Amino acid sequence: MSSVVTVEDVSFAYGEKAAIEDISLSIDAGDFVGLIGPNGSGKTTLLHLMLGLKRPDSGSITLFGEPIDEFDDGERIGYVSQHSTDRGSTMPVTVREVVTMGRFAHVGRSPLGTDDHEIVDEALETVEITDLADRRVNQLSGGQRQRTFIARALASEADLLALDEPTVGVDAESREHFYGMLDDLNRQGITIILIEHDIDILTKHVNKVACINRELYHHGDTISFLESEALSKAYGAAHGVIEHDHP
Ligand code: ADP
Ligand code: MG
Repeated sequence: MSSVVTVEDVSFAYGEKAAIEDISLSIDAGDFVGLIGPNGSGKTTLLHLMLGLKRPDSGSITLFGEPIDEFDDGERIGYVSQHSTDRGSTMPVTVREVVTMGRFAHVGRSPLGTDDHEIVDEALETVEITDLADRRVNQLSGGQRQRTFIARALASEADLLALDEPTVGVDAESREHFYGMLDDLNRQGITIILIEHDIDILTKHVNKVACINRELYHHGDTISFLESEALSKAYGAAHGVIEHDHP
């Protein structure tokens, strides 16, 4: 099984404040990994480290088998950042335009061809937003906007999707639908890393869990996670903030 991301003895601090301490884990091709931990436990930081958006203070990371400093295949990664749904609300561009951006990395300076437009159409269809293609992103609901960003990642033919709390502000029904769609993408072979604070929903869909609170408390399949005490330990740890209930 080939490794998509490996993290080895990685630590990272914001100034004096340790956010990630000595974490090692490896994500294999085809995994659907849930990254969980209380608020402020370092989930977003770890994801940034894994995607090369931050450099570790110590330890090493590889992406698709390459040391992260040498990795330059950005279009293999589709990243939907935390709060991207809020930011999208000011974007005066259409859904099709956003999704088409996913092709730019492939074509470089040449104009988009018929194939590119077909790939965009397919991506729109996969996430069922074909009928929204000409709508402005700032007129969409949170869930529709989120699907637009996923479609952009699909159009870029990413084989790793990294999603940081993608359903915040999305109603329960759309959320269920969204996760069903991620299941389908994962079955098609796309590796997914998902940060989601709703543990019940998360463990229903992912097949591996990485549970952190600054340190790694568990990394393994979902069943062994549910049977372990990692969750209560990570959420009860002195250096963590206890998660408040989200509405
Ligand atoms: P999570 O995504 O699990 O909520 P984060 O990775 O965002 O956690 O944050 C981990 C810790 O690092 C928190 O204590 C947070 O306050 C701190 N932190 C995050 N970003 C910064 C930053 N830019 N500067 C200083 N501290 C930060
Ligand atoms: Mg976060």
